[in-house]
Amino acid sequence: MKIDIKNNDVLYVEINGWNYYIDDSTNEQIIDKWKEIQCTHCDSRLTLHHMDWSAIICSYCEKEIQA
Ligand SMILES: [Zn+2]
Repeated sequence: MKIDIKNNDVLYVEINGWNYYIDDSTNEQIIDKWKEIQCTHCDSRLTLHHMDWSAIICSYCEKEIQA
């Protein structure tokens, strides 16, 4: 686990490859999470925002498969 406290309003946490972002700097209580993964068909890096395993190919490979 990695914890990165940016300032009094912004915090990043990394747990098992998932990144969590908490931000209250704009008084909007923003919470986001994402994971950096590699496309299963090429070397492209993808940002996965939820556990949608159908999305583990980049948009280019998706077009190739559907073609
Ligand atoms: Zn790809």
